[in-house]
Amino acid sequence: MVEQQAFVGDHAEIREEVRKLCAKYPGQYWRDLDARRAYPTEFVSELTKSGFLSVLIPEEFGGSGLGLSAAAAILETIQASGCNGAACHAQLYTMGTVLRHGSPAQKAAYLPKIATGELRLQAFGVTEPTSGTDTTSLRTFAKRDGDEYVVNGQKIWTSRAEHSDLMVLLARTTPRDQVRKKTEGLSTFLVDMRQALDNGLTIRPIRTMMNHNSCEVFFEDMRIPAENRIGEEGKGFRYILSGMNAERILIAAECIGDAKWFIDTARDYARERHVFGRAIGQNQGIQFPIAQVYARMRAAELMVRDAISRYEAALDCGAEANMAKMLAADASWEAANVCVQTHGGFGFAEEYDVERKFRETRLYQVAPISTNLILSYIAEHVLDLPRSY
Ligand SMILES: Cc1cc2nc3c(=O)[nH]c(=O)nc-3n(C[C@H](O)[C@H](O)[C@H](O)COP(=O)(O)OP(=O)(O)OC[C@H]3O[C@@H](n4cnc5c(N)ncnc54)[C@H](O)[C@@H]3O)c2cc1C
Repeated sequence: MVEQQAFVGDHAEIREEVRKLCAKYPGQYWRDLDARRAYPTEFVSELTKSGFLSVLIPEEFGGSGLGLSAAAAILETIQASGCNGAACHAQLYTMGTVLRHGSPAQKAAYLPKIATGELRLQAFGVTEPTSGTDTTSLRTFAKRDGDEYVVNGQKIWTSRAEHSDLMVLLARTTPRDQVRKKTEGLSTFLVDMRQALDNGLTIRPIRTMMNHNSCEVFFEDMRIPAENRIGEEGKGFRYILSGMNAERILIAAECIGDAKWFIDTARDYARERHVFGRAIGQNQGIQFPIAQVYARMRAAELMVRDAISRYEAALDCGAEANMAKMLAADASWEAANVCVQTHGGFGFAEEYDVERKFRETRLYQVAPISTNLILSYIAEHVLDLPRSY
């Protein structure tokens, strides 16, 4: 692994344990799943049983009550080991909506079961086909009917929907033309997908360029008990926003892990591959791009650490979380490119895993938030430039 100074609070023991677990799931395991677009059930079960997916759940609810830095260390290590944390990263942070805004009864009912893995909370239904990034224009509507809500609408890109028992859902409860601000009138629900499946809920997988288990989800008169609404009616957008910094920071940590994997893999290959009677890594045309992206990865990593420290100190970290996500995603994407170039033709061969990781890391230029939207955030909220949309 790429040598580096340890940071304070680096969770070295957790990293070591995660590395050991990941060693049992080598490239062949992921290649096989990738070919079949299948879900890494064994890998996710072992992470769950080992307690790694419940580190953010407080001890009183059966988790280990650690900070965001521990979750970041876990996800970074998974990616740096060549595995794919996208199969389960939401289990770490989606429960934050229940933890921060749920009622005592909801926390007691769900968090301990999420901590043990008895309930999987892997699905997060926000994006819709027609509204895209413009979240407050979403059309899925939850209409109150006595002790229930009746939901109609559609979500897209709901990752892991087929491998989750619960979904955090954002739906409109007051029509947009009846609210003062478009961010009002949206509500958050915890949907028990086991009960809803074929009972108003239909899930349709989307085949994508990488193995991500993303789906279209359709709601047709799907009933949710009113007690499954999280927090107050109409305040759901705020609850979803409050979890986004954690999500961005953790995805950034994954990108740092990816970048480290690409840099390690490129470095090793550059040392071993001999052309014209010498290691290709002796050529500066091969060395310099690897050295350059290493420096960029380390700079991005500092921004991730800064965002984590601010998050853990309960300071405002919107700008840092966004910048960390953008810089880390840029570093991982550049490292992916360098790694392919270093491998020449073998960069395209499945058995080297480079092309698989290349496809996987491309996502983070777009999701969970695209680069343009981060730049807009910085322009508007940090630089005080006029809002562009
Ligand atoms: C594999 C995958 C998994 C995902 N998982 C989930 C999930 O689990 N749950 C979920 O809710 N969502 C999920 N998403 C959705 C993801 O968050 C969105 O794809 C992403 O936010 C971009 O939205 P969009 O695709 O609708 O793009 P659009 O909003 O249609 O935007 C298209 C392009 O235009 C740009 N653009 C749009 N408006 C502006 C503007 N004002 N200024 C400049 N550029 C602009 C965007 O940056 C983007 O590059 C996933 C997506 C993918 C591909």
